[in-house]
Amino acid sequence: MSHRSYQTLAASGAAVLGLFGTTCALDGLWWEAGMFGFVAVFLIEASIREARAHRIAEARERTARGNAQEQPLLVPCCPFWTSSAGLVHAPDCHTWSTR
Ligand SMILES: [Zn+2]
Repeated sequence: MSHRSYQTLAASGAAVLGLFGTTCALDGLWWEAGMFGFVAVFLIEASIREARAHRIAEARERTARGNAQEQPLLVPCCPFWTSSAGLVHAPDCHTWSTR
């Protein structure tokens, strides 16, 4: 399960538990309300932790992608490639189209 969906699940669970807890509190069931609130706090904490893990994973992915882009392209394949240092290819460049 991805960070994002786990985070959504934890946040939704916390919201539902918060609702149950509020309902119990309104009915005077303080012990139950306390238990729901207790678990809800754990879920909120888990949700925040997952959000942080998601951000870190994203940043790591960005860094990896940046490093990959810094590597030079393989071979000069056409005049456009040569004049643009590998950024642009001729419209009918075979090397580009097969990549
Ligand atoms: Zn090319």
